[in-house]
Amino acid sequence: MVPGVRFAPVIRPGRLPAIDDLDPGGQLPDGERDAEAARFTTAAAAVADRLRERAAAATGSASEVLAATATLAQDRAWLGAAEKRIKEGMPAVRATAEAVTQFVELFTQLGGLMAERVTDLRDIRDRVIAELSGLPEPGVPAPAQPSILCAEDLAPADTAGLDPTLVVGLATTLGGPTSHTAIIARQLGIPCVVAVSGLDDVAPGTPVLIDGIRGTVTLSPDPAEAAAAVEAADAATAAMAGWSGPGATADGHPIAILANVQDGSAARAARETPAEGIGLFRTELCFLNRDTEPTVDEQAAIYGEVLDAFAGCKVVIRTLDAGSDKPLKFVGHPDEANPALGVRGIRIAALNPEVLERQLDGIAAAAANSGNSPWVMAPMIATPDEAKHFAERARERNLVPGVMIEVPAAALLADRILEHVEFLSIGTNDLAQYTMAADRMSAELATLTDPWQPGVIALVAHTAKAGAAAGKPVGVCGEAAADPLLACVLTGLGVTSLSAAAAAVTGVGAKLATVTLQQCRDAAAAVLGTASAAEARAVALEVLG
Ligand code: PEP
Ligand code: MG
Repeated sequence: MVPGVRFAPVIRPGRLPAIDDLDPGGQLPDGERDAEAARFTTAAAAVADRLRERAAAATGSASEVLAATATLAQDRAWLGAAEKRIKEGMPAVRATAEAVTQFVELFTQLGGLMAERVTDLRDIRDRVIAELSGLPEPGVPAPAQPSILCAEDLAPADTAGLDPTLVVGLATTLGGPTSHTAIIARQLGIPCVVAVSGLDDVAPGTPVLIDGIRGTVTLSPDPAEAAAAVEAADAATAAMAGWSGPGATADGHPIAILANVQDGSAARAARETPAEGIGLFRTELCFLNRDTEPTVDEQAAIYGEVLDAFAGCKVVIRTLDAGSDKPLKFVGHPDEANPALGVRGIRIAALNPEVLERQLDGIAAAAANSGNSPWVMAPMIATPDEAKHFAERARERNLVPGVMIEVPAAALLADRILEHVEFLSIGTNDLAQYTMAADRMSAELATLTDPWQPGVIALVAHTAKAGAAAGKPVGVCGEAAADPLLACVLTGLGVTSLSAAAAAVTGVGAKLATVTLQQCRDAAAAVLGTASAAEARAVALEVLG
């Protein structure tokens, strides 16, 4: 979701004709196959070239995403699968469609972030087929008036080219919060809601209200009410924009507001916000496409970019949280029936200790080069012994050790874990998944994995209390910290820092600045007495406004 409320008529992207209409079927004669394969190679190269040109014209993550799509358009694996079919006599249009289907199935099976790249592949398919068929590139029509773009899914290439003054909102049936559509929409500042059902039959021209804060789409709402909702949201945004940090409640209780990043470029973007530092650097996201382990020097250079972006500020680097939905080829994951409960995060260190040792060497080298000494934390800690082992490895390198609290057992034993480490950081995404026994990737179970679940908040409260007793900081770096209302509740529970996506930093800081510590404490006490996520939200809203 990308926050913001918009009311405008719907537009829809253009579609390619069905494959059967473009290719009536039948085999190519032997003599034509080589020429058809060459025609395919030229079409794929033309599509990649155009994407690269658009990447050069764009900036920031839009440019990176377009460049990544261009690279995928030239990926030997799917190009080879299409060429093989053409050599066997299949016309290029159908061969393109079938080869992409093969890889879409593979990516979907792999799940997680790989599955979200399926949209990029389908986009490449449609562009190559249009090129082969002499049709215009499929994509978004240029609207004559401010409009809301509704689609099954949007390709990064389409999203990156949107004019935010004309496409004022986005709603898609597919996609997840980390899909490229959502990432680019966030960069363009276009309110966006993904994974909305019932959008497919909405006709162009239908007036809709999208609410990127609540994640809702309302068809043909009352125009006066819709306009009032947009006005109220815009007024709230304007009020927020004046906030420039540092994080504190209205009565001056300090609470550090930090950013979550995945690389140097995200850190530099976060530096443009009032974020006071980095509360979570997800290092595994730097290496998702790597077949081999990056060397210590390569790692030091990558980590150094983040340290330099926040020179003189707090930076918390998380060691590789590989496994589950974020497998890394080079760590040697075992085959597992249930990878979310398998060898992921710190558990890899038992199997393959050198990967952790070399990563900590890379972090220590980056610290020495930049002069900014980060804190380091391990993901998926379940026992005090795991925390002790990690802390020893970190201290050997003069790094300040901490751990993430994502497993209920770790939350319950936070006091004993704190005997070994200097700080805790609560990952509410996984803590909710494991507390509620509900897959965080499942759209059907989203009510259970809601961080407002009182069961999850009780574990946060227990952890924060252990931190206060030990006199050591306890932060929250899961999505809970990005929700301004919940951020106030977390503050009331005794959490000492909040780390969220850069786009959420200002909203969280501005909200906290409007409430007192006592209000936060009252809201926290009220939330701890509730029996459902909805009730928890409602009581917090009552106290905090
Ligand atoms: C979490 O689990 O809340 C967290 C911050 O880690 P990730 O989302 O990377 O699993
Ligand atoms: Mg996690």
